[in-house]
Amino acid sequence: MLPTRELYASLAVTAAVSTAALFWLQHSHFSTKGVRWWATAMSSFLLSLVLIAFRGFIPPFLSKVLVNICATVGYLCFWYGIRAFFNRPLNFYVIACGVLLTSTTAIVSSLSLFLPQFILYKIITLSFSYSIPNVLSAYELLRYGRHSKTAKYLGYMNIASAFVNFMHGVLILYTHSFNTFFSTGVGTLVYILWSNGTLLFTTFGLIMLIVEELNAKLAQQAVEDPLTGLFNRRALNEVSSTYFTKSQQKEKRVGLLMLDIDHFKVVNDTYGHATGDLLLKHFANEVSCCLRATDSLYRMGGEEFLVIIPDCSAAVLQGLGERIRAHIEQTPLVMPHGTIHNTVSIGCSLSCASDSCLDSAIERADTALYLAKENGRNRVTMHEVAV
Ligand code: GH3
Ligand code: MG
Ligand code: MG
Repeated sequence: MLPTRELYASLAVTAAVSTAALFWLQHSHFSTKGVRWWATAMSSFLLSLVLIAFRGFIPPFLSKVLVNICATVGYLCFWYGIRAFFNRPLNFYVIACGVLLTSTTAIVSSLSLFLPQFILYKIITLSFSYSIPNVLSAYELLRYGRHSKTAKYLGYMNIASAFVNFMHGVLILYTHSFNTFFSTGVGTLVYILWSNGTLLFTTFGLIMLIVEELNAKLAQQAVEDPLTGLFNRRALNEVSSTYFTKSQQKEKRVGLLMLDIDHFKVVNDTYGHATGDLLLKHFANEVSCCLRATDSLYRMGGEEFLVIIPDCSAAVLQGLGERIRAHIEQTPLVMPHGTIHNTVSIGCSLSCASDSCLDSAIERADTALYLAKENGRNRVTMHEVAV
């Protein structure tokens, strides 16, 4: 006879470690979206396992009814944590599913307490109802975590868990007895080992999901300007050599427009820094409207922006610069306390065969911008090398 109580106690230790790991992650603010729910799920499993381990020493209501409710709540919290992680809403369908499964568990468990002949039906019902959140979790993981290998593996593992839970029910349903594989000594041992494995794999997988999300967020933040949402100078540094090499290989010229808002400091001084920020956002949006999908806009810093046009001619470059200049002049920022008119000065340059990197062309665009400012602002100036 296998020491079943000890096996369940060992499973409870695994659940305790998983719970601690997830609560620690939540406490460390690594991710707030799903972690709290996963930690709650693990606590629920832990409580359920502790209650099983103490079976015989505690009232049957606790060890039989609460065990099943905790397990169901655990599966549901895990499912909802996956949804929260992928920014899926808490809607009527989630609440209805949660209420239905929890109340079914509570009813069948309580009935079996008073009607011993009902125990078979209780196990069948619970086995099937545990597999429902497994399938729902797998669906979310495979559908919304498509780009993550970890999400995929967690999805497959949930399908396997659903299968095990489902088969548990099917075997009892067909044999109409507890004497299935799951009740033998070997069956119990395999089931506990499987549960230990899935618990550990799930915790490891969830931590990996958080790490992947954090990495993606950091990579995004590293190249994005937080105010305008445009690419920043670091992003430009990363791609400038690619632009340059491609243009040299194909003997094509890269067009550059260096944009600088005129008298922006006056806006800050007159209306305040917050309004200055709004103008920067407005400006970035309006310039984006003038560009094609192949053009890129970067915020170089302050009120200075750079447009890169791959495969460009002097005429096209000057035409686009003029279009942007006129558009900015015609689209003031409308605020409740008044309309803020603004203009932009633009310096243009094209890459040329003698350049050793894109920076040379950027410097020429800067020089042209300086001339545009010198000559009275609100104008487009082409660097003479580009003509
Ligand atoms: P010019 O026509 O010669 O370009 O004059 P300007 O006032 O636009 O240029 P200047 O370089 O004198 O001033 C730029 C100002 O932009 C100064 C700086 O405080 C402000 N600035 C830089 N970054 C930000 C920002 O993120 N938000 C706001 N609101 N202001 C910023
Ligand atoms: Mg300026
Ligand atoms: Mg400036």
